[in-house]
Amino acid sequence: MDKVLMIKYGEIALKGMNKPYFERVLIERIRKAIKSYPEASVWRYEGVVFARTADQEKLSEMAVEISKVFGVATVSIAAEVESDPETIFSDAAEYMKEIRKEQKIYTFKVEAKRSNKQFPIISPEIARKAGGSILKACNDDPEYPLRVNVHEPDCMLFVDVRRDKTYIYHDKLAGFGGLPLGTNGKGLVLLSGGIDSPVASWMMAKRGMNIEAIHFHSYPFTSDRAKEKVLDLAKILSGYCGRIKVHCVNLLEIQQAINENCPEEQMTILSRRFMMKIAERLAHEVKADVLITGENIGQVASQTVQGLVVTDNAVQLPVMRPLIAMDKVDIMEIAQKIGTFDTSIQPFEDCCTVFLPKHPLTKPKLETILESEKHLDAEQLIENAFAGMENYTINP
Ligand code: ATP
Ligand code: MG
Repeated sequence: MDKVLMIKYGEIALKGMNKPYFERVLIERIRKAIKSYPEASVWRYEGVVFARTADQEKLSEMAVEISKVFGVATVSIAAEVESDPETIFSDAAEYMKEIRKEQKIYTFKVEAKRSNKQFPIISPEIARKAGGSILKACNDDPEYPLRVNVHEPDCMLFVDVRRDKTYIYHDKLAGFGGLPLGTNGKGLVLLSGGIDSPVASWMMAKRGMNIEAIHFHSYPFTSDRAKEKVLDLAKILSGYCGRIKVHCVNLLEIQQAINENCPEEQMTILSRRFMMKIAERLAHEVKADVLITGENIGQVASQTVQGLVVTDNAVQLPVMRPLIAMDKVDIMEIAQKIGTFDTSIQPFEDCCTVFLPKHPLTKPKLETILESEKHLDAEQLIENAFAGMENYTINP
């Protein structure tokens, strides 16, 4: 039997007038994800996307790649057969015989769907007849019987009858849902080496946003390895987000200026405001619509509401903080699922730990902070930081 991948999408199906656009982008993204497979092709047929490759052995590997494409709800390996009653019933039996060799199945249920209303048999009848054909074909060994169980079957077998072709499948690999990349503008993420900002990037990308990144370091106070860690994280993210540009900016001169001219406890909030300003300037250059951070309320001293208000005030661009109200355990769970966690927890110093104040200000007042900034030549400092920026392009 010829096998193909049957790819269902969730939310895009609800997009009304824009649906064709979302579908087109989704198909492009799937094509990109599997372009290295032999004779891979992707097509749309009656509201579902299909993919195939000349090498059937590679289908399950390809399914995993496709499940990572944002917008995909499920991927199944399906047998593609002619939409003719006799073929469907005998192939359903053949299909069940095959999968019973790979996994122990004692009970099953058939669920049939008929999107082709010209097909002469109604859905419950298709399920009943396919079930009958399966029982007949699969009960030659008394040691390994097969029965129908409509409540708690070992195997749900789906039979999806379409105009020319019918698809028989049983397993569904879950995708992440969301919307295809590139359907929702572009965000510049402030990417640290921590757990949160990679998750924040991933979550915005999942809503269709293209991602570019800026990272701040304090070389030589922070090591090259700390920067490499961030590039490693970008590499993992690129598996979902496609090619990512990472811009690395040295914050040391700014931190030293703050250290010399401002009260010690304001170090964190002042450097945070500088990061935002530099990021905003870069966002204008690279045509990003918004900034993204991994900030989360109450997680660390600098992330109080008052701290966020003062940070936010540094820029005009909207700042997206997708993790703002999440619990740390849930953020960590996503980091595990997307594969960034193990890299994030590698112990390398972050620029924020250089000049870390003993008692950082937890409730900064905007007027006080603006007053302190008067003692700094912000424009020149930002100019210098920009001049030394290093740019990397990370490919998936
Ligand atoms: P993360 O796990 O993302 O590092 P965090 O819990 O350590 O976050 P902070 O260090 O207060 O929290 O940083 C808050 C946010 O500020 C980060 O999520 C990130 O978006 C940004 N940020 C912090 N440090 C850097 C850095 N060195 N380079 C770029 N962005 C940074
Ligand atoms: Mg951090």
